[in-house]
Amino acid sequence: MITTTNPADGTTIAEYARHDDGEVEARLARSWTRFTHDWRTRPLDDRTDLLERLADVLDDRTDELARLMTAEMGKPIRAARSEVEKCAWLCRHYAETAETYLAGRSIQTDAAKSYVRYDPMGPILAVMPWNFPLWQVFRFLVPNVVGGNTCLLRHASNVTGTALEIERMVAEAGGPDGLFTTLLCDHDTVESIIGDRRVRGVTLTGSDVAGRAVAAAAGRNLKPSVMELGGSDPFIVLDDADLDLAAQLAVDSRYLNSGQSCINAKRLIVAESRYEDFLDALVQRVKGLVVGDPTEESTDIGPLASEGHRDTVADQVHRTLVHRNGGEALVGATMIDGPGAFYAPTVIRDVNPEAPAASEEVFGPVSAVMSAADDDVAVALANATRFGLGAAIITGDDERGEAVAAQIDAGMVFVNQLVKSDPRLPFGGVKDSGYGRELSQEGAVAFLNTKLVWVD
Ligand code: NAP
Repeated sequence: MITTTNPADGTTIAEYARHDDGEVEARLARSWTRFTHDWRTRPLDDRTDLLERLADVLDDRTDELARLMTAEMGKPIRAARSEVEKCAWLCRHYAETAETYLAGRSIQTDAAKSYVRYDPMGPILAVMPWNFPLWQVFRFLVPNVVGGNTCLLRHASNVTGTALEIERMVAEAGGPDGLFTTLLCDHDTVESIIGDRRVRGVTLTGSDVAGRAVAAAAGRNLKPSVMELGGSDPFIVLDDADLDLAAQLAVDSRYLNSGQSCINAKRLIVAESRYEDFLDALVQRVKGLVVGDPTEESTDIGPLASEGHRDTVADQVHRTLVHRNGGEALVGATMIDGPGAFYAPTVIRDVNPEAPAASEEVFGPVSAVMSAADDDVAVALANATRFGLGAAIITGDDERGEAVAAQIDAGMVFVNQLVKSDPRLPFGGVKDSGYGRELSQEGAVAFLNTKLVWVD
């Protein structure tokens, strides 16, 4: 049985029976048949029309979907609604751009004609996390559906209701049976699904621990994979930065989704000459964040996704504060009494790069702040992590920002803006943050066969 629990009050939401081996096989077979007998050869217009209708379904059901996500993983309701709206944007973006993204290219050779075309490969499996329960899935679903693949989803167990709702929405939009299939199965079954000859690729969004397990299974079976893993993104404030902008962007980035985003600004690295002023501006804003019932419109920070998860964050903060020169808490650093998995928004100053708040990924509302004597030290601190997802640089001089950006080991660097995902831009990381890219043209072709055709 899979039991989902509301992290705001600990109550049970629903129980779901896992699919047994026979049900998993039946679902795989439907995905394969839909691919081979229909979807791979459907005209592009049919696929883009489906995306347009899916966007309309999302629009019609925004509030209901937002409430489901809020109940299952505690996302504040305003953010949940924005997530649904962003998924509709993603659908419409690919409906509009698919023809360009999938156009292929002709290459001049001594052939009469030689060109690259993008062909679908088959059912693709996605293993997905709970933190953006809709957006992460749509980031996989939309490009694959439009590219002609069929989709299998193994979602995080605590958002099973959302997983099943996505399956229903695809059907409601006119998606035929087998186009998008949810699998309610355990981790061992994921490994055997990856080994199934009908499954042609696997993507995982989640921790590096899960990524290593799933990427290893993909490697053993020679299946292409995309890994969108954790991060400990640096947020660098240079000495010429507008401090109001820097503090506001730092808060918007670090406390987004109650601190449970892969691209939260987790390590704030600030020019020594602006350090105290930045801390004052940051702490003042963090104290103003409204923590509480995630269904309330005024709430900025809801509960973390589970009590176990909250305990992990509390432990990381505790180990930081008892670490030798680990850091000093200026606000928060405490669980909130009462029911629910709440943790107070926290700022820790003078964090030792070796301490857990900087050396591990902290998936909760905790800013680890440190100072840097100059730009070179800031870059060295920013790169002193096993992760390499995103980075932000705040400066009064764009050119200086771009010069720093060139030295950062990350998949995405934003100057004077927080790191964010956007359907138009490729998303992904390097080092332990994974490999491959989602979104944009890179995401459109990630699981397509780049096929060369030569005509003599
Ligand atoms: P997680 O524990 O790694 O779980 C992610 C998914 O993998 C879940 O569906 C989980 O299933 C499954 N899973 C875990 N171990 C597995 C295994 N050995 N074999 C097969 N499946 C396995 O991560 P999470 O706690 O849900 O999400 C938080 C992490 O995701 C953070 O590290 C965050 O930074 C990262 N993330 C990255 C991105 C990105 O785009 N780079 C985006 C969002 C989140 P169960 O739920 O059943 O355990």
